[in-house]
Amino acid sequence: MKKIKINTHWCKGCGICVTLCPKGVLKLEEETVQVENEEACIGCRQCEYHCPDFAIVIGEDENG
Ligand code: SF4
Ligand code: SF4
Repeated sequence: MKKIKINTHWCKGCGICVTLCPKGVLKLEEETVQVENEEACIGCRQCEYHCPDFAIVIGEDENG
């Protein structure tokens, strides 16, 4: 499982990451992105690469 770190101060709620995530991991709530389903994350980093505000970072867990 990947660790999804969101900087909620930087997120402006554009929804790009929610749209691009192939696994439905992210959702918008009150104009800020939330992690809905972290177990489903495959670590593709589409969210991280495309966030215009650098608000998402995908990290490795202890098992890589
Ligand atoms: S792409 Fe970035 S700014 Fe847009 S909703 Fe996702 S985390 Fe927030
Ligand atoms: S790394 Fe890929 S699967 Fe994980 S939250 Fe981001 S877009 Fe979704």
